[in-house]
Amino acid sequence: MTQEVVGNLHMHTPYSDGAWYHDQIALAASQARLDFIVVTDHNVWVQGPQGYHHEVLVLVGQEVHNNRRTPQANHLLVYGAEAELSQCAAQPQQLIDAARARGGLTFIAHPFDFPLKFMREPGIAWVDWNIEGYVGLEIWNYMSEFKARMPNRLLAVYYALYPQRAIRGPFKETLELWDELLADGQRVVGVGNSDAHAFTLSLGPVKRVIFPYEYLFRCVNTHLLLDEGLTGDVEYDKYLIYSALEQGHSWVGYDLLGSTKGFSFTARSASEHAAIGEEMRRAGAVNFDVEVPLPATFQIVRAGKGVVARAKGTKMKFTSVEAGAYRVEAYRKGRGWIFSNPIYVL
Ligand SMILES: [Zn+2]
Ligand SMILES: [Zn+2]
Repeated sequence: MTQEVVGNLHMHTPYSDGAWYHDQIALAASQARLDFIVVTDHNVWVQGPQGYHHEVLVLVGQEVHNNRRTPQANHLLVYGAEAELSQCAAQPQQLIDAARARGGLTFIAHPFDFPLKFMREPGIAWVDWNIEGYVGLEIWNYMSEFKARMPNRLLAVYYALYPQRAIRGPFKETLELWDELLADGQRVVGVGNSDAHAFTLSLGPVKRVIFPYEYLFRCVNTHLLLDEGLTGDVEYDKYLIYSALEQGHSWVGYDLLGSTKGFSFTARSASEHAAIGEEMRRAGAVNFDVEVPLPATFQIVRAGKGVVARAKGTKMKFTSVEAGAYRVEAYRKGRGWIFSNPIYVL
């Protein structure tokens, strides 16, 4: 029996450039009703805090990049390698291979990232695309999007006060890249994260913590469908979470617009059946079923072909005879709400 858990897989502590330590962040996660978090400090793997804190499973990954490179580029999220890998940071392929050799999963962090021009902060995108063996892309990074929506100081002050007006969804460049890779036949898992640091931003009259961990944990999260419920055993639960993550049994939800818990996307063809992240062989027509937990406008995207079906409300059925990677996007109040991983029809 599958079980849904909600978590966030990208955040920082004072071991790199974040404000709070693991236990305090776990308390914020528990208040935001997350089931798990993965802390990803820059170029350091902090082993000690893995375990349950405030009923939240705290796992520790890392965000690895070459510190000596200017301008900065190629931030890689690594989960489950259980060793420090920053010594491989200069060569992205070597880094991905080293993580894999240790059973780790790698995700390209904020593949597109735009400069914060008025503060002279450059964007930190991924630039070395001659790579293979990574598991997926961070299709939605809250802080990266927030930064991109602030073209000048005036709007920055406004959005610091009303962040929900800044956040719209994954960058279209990222979704296009994802579809390109999927249409090319690759399996690429999408995740969505906060990239929480809780640093303080001073902008003239406004001095704010941008943003508290708890606030961000109510925003862009990754929902996983586990093969079974969490047991309380740290090693086993880590295995359950990382397996679901690797297989893309998941979607990205902007839960601030309404909880995305209970979303479902499945496919059937004759006696074959597939859930999110799975592949299935066609036997004639394939029937897709989508159900969103609250009224929304939503669509099915077939990678490389664009939108193939649209609906409003909470349910949609769609039939196709074509092979391809099919994924769901849902919108509420004109903003991105749910971005599912694909079902792969062969
Ligand atoms: Zn980064
Ligand atoms: Zn980060």
